[in-house]
Amino acid sequence: MNPFIYDVAATRVVFGVGTLAALGEEAGHLGMKRAFVLSTAAQAGTINAAAHALGEAFAGNFSEAAMHTPIAVTEKALEAARANGADGLISIGGGSAIGLGKALSLRTGLPHLVVPTTYAGSEMTPILGQTENGVKTTMRDRAVQPAAVIYDVNLTLTLPTKMSGVSGLNAVAHAVEALYAPDADPIIKLMAKEGIRVLAKSLPVVASTPGDKDARSDALYGAWLCAVCLGRTSVALHHKLCHVLGGAFDLPHAETHAAVLPHAYAYNAPAVPETAAVLREVLGSDQPAGVLFDLTASFGSPTALRDLGMPADGIDRALELIFQNPYSNPRPLQRDAIRELLENAWAGRRPQA
Ligand code: NAD
Repeated sequence: MNPFIYDVAATRVVFGVGTLAALGEEAGHLGMKRAFVLSTAAQAGTINAAAHALGEAFAGNFSEAAMHTPIAVTEKALEAARANGADGLISIGGGSAIGLGKALSLRTGLPHLVVPTTYAGSEMTPILGQTENGVKTTMRDRAVQPAAVIYDVNLTLTLPTKMSGVSGLNAVAHAVEALYAPDADPIIKLMAKEGIRVLAKSLPVVASTPGDKDARSDALYGAWLCAVCLGRTSVALHHKLCHVLGGAFDLPHAETHAAVLPHAYAYNAPAVPETAAVLREVLGSDQPAGVLFDLTASFGSPTALRDLGMPADGIDRALELIFQNPYSNPRPLQRDAIRELLENAWAGRRPQA
């Protein structure tokens, strides 16, 4: 018997093709009459479409969202939202835009609607990481869980091939860690398994045929499943490693997840036989870590952390940071074994697990 607690904060989800057209209606459900739209600079075209869909409820926009939610950017956006008389927030983009929306909703209490355009998964979580003076701190609070999410497959068609692949593996990482999370309930385990299965099948098609709407739809559906997993379970070695490496060496988020995942899983594999069985089944191989490694390489993304910008002497620094704040993990953290993991990930050696 496996005891569990099932405790879910509801988020309304609208999924489909062309669903951005429903933005005005969905914003209306949340009582927004003056919606303020947040994005990165690259999303200008989508902002125009969003403004059109919102009509008179479009209050203005701020397009300077940046990775890791710098507090200085949040303060600037907050000023702009207030100057525009915003009564609601809409984030359109990947984790960077969504992080900014969460930071603003936390400070203002305004309802937050999200339109995700990557597979990173922040839209379904109560997690917010913010950066000040080069230090990133992460909080978990239901106050930052978005009220509603519109998934529009059309908006993912422009996500470049490599980014699509590594962003999808970022999602897979959420589900892998959910499979062995001590607080995973049975529904989450089903979602995790299905999320990994769908992404492993659809991402290679997305990479070879980026305009294939069926594959894009499957990938976005898988990303949603994996995002729910991240929002409802505690993370372990994999996410902590990526947090440390991203923060210490300013490594790119999704690419780092893709490069680290095979090694983090290989480290934990001997301690998580049930997860290993699920991964062998859905990835169709006795070596799930090898499959994940090969997927990263097939998307043209580096499998070696050194190729993402981590210096050789960074291994000692990372080791120091990892052991500064110990945390729970299925396999206890052993210094020599974690050093070996980091050396393998730095050099891009294919794990045999
Ligand atoms: P991102 O949001 O930084 O986007 C990467 C780049 O892709 C940006 O330049 C963006 O403009 C562009 N882009 C996004 N969607 C596009 C599209 N459809 N077409 C073309 N270009 C597009 O990257 P990300 O990986 O989605 O998010 C990373 C950030 O999210 C990190 O700060 C990470 O910490 C955070 N994150 C938070 C959570 C959480 O639960 N709090 C979960 C995952 C990621």
